[in-house]
Amino acid sequence: MTAVNLGMPAPPPPVLSPRRKTRQIKVGKVGVGSDHQVSVQSMTTTKTTDINGTLQQIAELTAAGCDIVRVACPATEDAEALPAIAQKSQIPVIADIHFQPKYVYKAIEAGCAAVRVNPGNIRKFDDQVKQISKEAADAGVSIRIGVNAGSLDKRLMEKYGKATPEALVESAVWEASLFEEHGFNDFKISVKHNDPVIMVRAYELLAERGDWPLHLGVTEAGPAFQGTIKSATAFGTLLSQGIGDTIRVSLSAPPVEEIKVGNQILESLNLRPRKLEIVSCPSCGRAQVDVYSLADKVTAGLEGLEVPLRVAVMGCVVNGPGEAREADLGVASGNGKGQIFVKGEVIKTVPESAIVETLIEEAMRIADESGLAQGAAEVVVG
Ligand code: SF4
Repeated sequence: MTAVNLGMPAPPPPVLSPRRKTRQIKVGKVGVGSDHQVSVQSMTTTKTTDINGTLQQIAELTAAGCDIVRVACPATEDAEALPAIAQKSQIPVIADIHFQPKYVYKAIEAGCAAVRVNPGNIRKFDDQVKQISKEAADAGVSIRIGVNAGSLDKRLMEKYGKATPEALVESAVWEASLFEEHGFNDFKISVKHNDPVIMVRAYELLAERGDWPLHLGVTEAGPAFQGTIKSATAFGTLLSQGIGDTIRVSLSAPPVEEIKVGNQILESLNLRPRKLEIVSCPSCGRAQVDVYSLADKVTAGLEGLEVPLRVAVMGCVVNGPGEAREADLGVASGNGKGQIFVKGEVIKTVPESAIVETLIEEAMRIADESGLAQGAAEVVVG
């Protein structure tokens, strides 16, 4: 049987650009900035007053790989729920504050790890910065200055006519300067827009203006398919230049989906270790098996496998053996049979009906032998 050394130390995989150097901040136990890995965030969709429901959703997000979670705080009852949520959550909680500055103070008192403020829609926000800076600094709480195209400061809307990249950046830089004047530096910034082109330009401009850690987001990105594409395109463009320290994929879909997409974006760019990776061919007129169904079944069978594993599922013998040989595990199909490869060698040939079951068995064996109960695998199906 072929020896598999998935647990051996290997040089870190290449990235497209080094990270842009930033100052470092903490969001509870999670460091945010260029010394730390890019973190993945989401936001709960439960009513914050539903403490158990919110904690349950946070637990699901945590299990899916969420690093930091944000909860809305639109009313007094929500603010009152924050201490229990902040205390019991396994990951740092950020309170998301719009309109009412008093909830910023309540969130700090509640023990939230950080507070997100939207300067464009908090009444007389600039007058509050001194007090917010003091209370946040005393409590060790960091801030996100979250500028949003949909709620840009009126003064800048008048000056620019719409939420241009320059307008978003001017708003962010102005608010940053107010915090810094009061000696407060523990903040990150976001300049979100629903158009990836405007969003990318805004972050590129902002990155040139200071060493703040940046939170990336395409706001209101849309339903899962469109939002995934928009976010992957925008984040990929920025992260490939080293810009971005924490990300939130916004989808009109359950928040766990946001975490899956966010992690996959980071893994694709080698900003996180790759876990299970299915390399499957698109199929074509040469395919001798139903590649779609084979790839779906293998993906479903390996869901939750947290070892680094590349699995190749290939539909015929044109590229099949080559891809299957390159993967940790693979199948090249043809003539009603599948040649099963492990680490470049054919270990057996099985009938088509046994391909899925064999791949899953072999993946589990590799995971066990690697000693990484929680790691990642690459499977190529073709
Ligand atoms: S591996 Fe074979 S079936 Fe799959 S796309 Fe390539 S040529 Fe077509």
